[in-house]
Amino acid sequence: MSDTLYVDVIFPLALPMAYTYSVPAGLINDVVIGKRIEAPIKNKLYAGLILDIHHREPTVGKTKDIISILDTVPIVNRKQLELWQWISKYYCCTMGEVMQAALPSSLKLESETKVVARYDLDEIDLTLTDDEYMVAEAISIQNELTIAQIQDILNRKTIYPIIRSLMDMGIVSIKEELIQKYKPKLVSILYLNEPFCSSPDAISLAYELVTKSDRQSRALLAFAQVTRMKEHFCPMHDVMAIAEVDSSVINSMVKKGIFTIKKEEKSRVSTEIVSVDDLPKLSEPQRKAIGEIRGYFDENKPVMLHGVTGSGKTRVYSELIMDALAKGRQVLYLLPEIALTSHLVERLRANIPASILVYHSRLNNNERVDIWKEVSNGANIVVSARSGLFLPFHDLGLVIIDEEHDPSYKQQDPSPRYNARDAALVLARSHGAPTILGTATPSLESYYNVFKEKYGLVALAERHGEAVLPIISLVDLKKSKNDKRYDGLLSFELQASIKLALDDGEQVILFQNRRGYSPNLTCSMCGWVADCANCDVHQTYHKAIHMLKCHYCGAKQKKPRHCPKCGSVELVEEGYGTERIEEHIAQYFPEARLARLDMDTAKTKYAFDKIIHEFENREIDILIGTQMIAKGLDFDNISLVGVINADGMLRYPDFRSSERAFQLLTQVSGRAGRRAKQGQVIIQTFAPEHPVLYETVHQLYGSFYQREIAERKNFVYPPVYNLIEIQLAHKSVDVVKHAATTFAELLRPKLANRILGPVEPPLARVRGQYLMVLLIKFEKDPKIAVQIKSLIETSRETLKTIAATKAVKVIIDVDPY
Ligand code: ADP
Ligand code: ZN
Ligand code: ZN
Repeated sequence: MSDTLYVDVIFPLALPMAYTYSVPAGLINDVVIGKRIEAPIKNKLYAGLILDIHHREPTVGKTKDIISILDTVPIVNRKQLELWQWISKYYCCTMGEVMQAALPSSLKLESETKVVARYDLDEIDLTLTDDEYMVAEAISIQNELTIAQIQDILNRKTIYPIIRSLMDMGIVSIKEELIQKYKPKLVSILYLNEPFCSSPDAISLAYELVTKSDRQSRALLAFAQVTRMKEHFCPMHDVMAIAEVDSSVINSMVKKGIFTIKKEEKSRVSTEIVSVDDLPKLSEPQRKAIGEIRGYFDENKPVMLHGVTGSGKTRVYSELIMDALAKGRQVLYLLPEIALTSHLVERLRANIPASILVYHSRLNNNERVDIWKEVSNGANIVVSARSGLFLPFHDLGLVIIDEEHDPSYKQQDPSPRYNARDAALVLARSHGAPTILGTATPSLESYYNVFKEKYGLVALAERHGEAVLPIISLVDLKKSKNDKRYDGLLSFELQASIKLALDDGEQVILFQNRRGYSPNLTCSMCGWVADCANCDVHQTYHKAIHMLKCHYCGAKQKKPRHCPKCGSVELVEEGYGTERIEEHIAQYFPEARLARLDMDTAKTKYAFDKIIHEFENREIDILIGTQMIAKGLDFDNISLVGVINADGMLRYPDFRSSERAFQLLTQVSGRAGRRAKQGQVIIQTFAPEHPVLYETVHQLYGSFYQREIAERKNFVYPPVYNLIEIQLAHKSVDVVKHAATTFAELLRPKLANRILGPVEPPLARVRGQYLMVLLIKFEKDPKIAVQIKSLIETSRETLKTIAATKAVKVIIDVDPY
């Protein structure tokens, strides 16, 4: 033990570990775990977070002092740090990477380069270029400028040569400074001064001071109106708006001593409560479900709420939320991909009589910090995509994981590659918060936990009220093709059903999980196919922009007129993407109003909302879309859902493809028919014998689960076994193969037959990088998992010390999705 006080600090960088600094005497009383400090790494200053405080002398090197403490109170609490630590250990990533994902970027201070003046320009006798003079002059006036400001002045990005030469001449120098990006929103608050505020009548004294000015009288009246004289302050903006006066009027009144103006911080988050006088009465099945859920909560068991689409899960959630609120506790409601589900949030608001904060990726940085602060101050309900997990809750009383099966709960890239569903369960446990996982199509993982009696199961098997589930039928395209009842896009059956629906003034959804015009462009003379230059995939043709695009790396190019190989002009578009389907449907049904919903048409939230809104208002008859339409479109008038081709989903080379197909087809089908009329779903396929299709058509979740879990067990896959995927990437195929073999050899002595590979993945090259993968499958035993993960991490370190393999990128994906 040493006399010196040390802190372990993490930085939002991929540094492998925490760094230890000494604490200078003057700061000793202020260091607290969870506060941010300023400290040097090499020659730059960074803001890091205190993870631990201790007297253990570091064994290596000389420690540096921290420079300053940036917070008066910790910005991260202990429960949050525990979660970060769990994620870092479980998913094999650094605390810095977790911190990077967890903190809103405005709370992550960064070092910013500033250019400062060293001499007065007049004292220097040098010839400067025009640009140099402009910059030097601006700096000498302002004393310092940021790089961005200089770029603005010169109206271009490359400015370093100019700064370099000014530095060489000794006119400017560079300094690094930490900048706080978060800017609180300030509002002007108008305070009524003494003696006018001492009693409700005292304001009449103020009226006497303004009798000569009509505008000042109006302002005073407006103030009285806004405050109703119950308070002696209110936002200045409100007074100006009601009195229809500008700030000069208020300023004159300040001079007269009537008002004082104060700038105050205001949250950007609106916390208006949408008042719901009477929530819809609970149905009998809902009441029963809630009783069962509360029972499991009493046993401290998470609950799987398996409710068919339209069964009214939201109403059940709202009742449980009210339970938590009554205890004064906080609620986290997780949803996949919230930015595209604003109508869903509206539906929630109508069911929950309390103010809801919505935290999502499209908020700006300042708004995120405001929500962060509200949660820290005790705000009660947060609806959020996976990042909501990281908010500073201090007393969670309920965690809802809605659509728990959704793959987007898993972060793919960058690290931490965490599954928010699983991390949320860990978070909930640490708060002692009841947890509910809701879905119409449970993931195999969660249902497996039901069978292991880790979760309670509560079912809502019927749609709410009169509504019934749709009739689902298959169309065998092989047969249709033979009978000449198929034109390459629509079978006669689907065509006829669309026509019927349109004739009845009902709406139709057509689903194809493929955007663009056609997935392939090929030469009918020589067989050439348009491939991406960087990836092992075909490029997709996008007709509206006449471009070939790669959906993996984004590379695009003009569609060629001639085959680049043989020069023929016989280039054919093969297959159907949503864009092409829209074009063809317009020919079949020229009267119908069409729209397309995919990543091309709904790039922005605004564009997405617009399409949804038009569909809801029945300004669209047929909506053609990718899986975007599978999520929560609950409109009454959709009588038909057509799946153009289910085969791609079934053939996808992944052990989860059957599960995905079942989920996606069930979710898409769930859009059909609500309330009074039964909906219809038509699934077109060349593989009608596939068991998943039978199970989907008859909605046999139980048989689906039993068959699928048996396969997973047979082939040693999750959820029966654990799976870790190690992906190696390098631009040279030889290097990556060598690295993969070396990695496998490092692991094999301890892992024996638990390790598979190395093999080339189905997509063996992405963005110019060749890939190899190793799969590690092992028994579900937490102790073994810890050992294996630590072995993987040390092997990765070893790989980095070998010259031939150190440049290879290694990605460790625990529980890959
Ligand atoms: P899910 O999320 O399970 O698919 P929803 O929560 O969207 O189902 O509910 C389906 C429909 O039933 C919605 O239109 C909802 O307003 C309605 N609903 C659900 N519960 C009730 C209730 N208790 N009273 C009246 N309407 C209800
Ligand atoms: Zn050709
Ligand atoms: Zn590509």
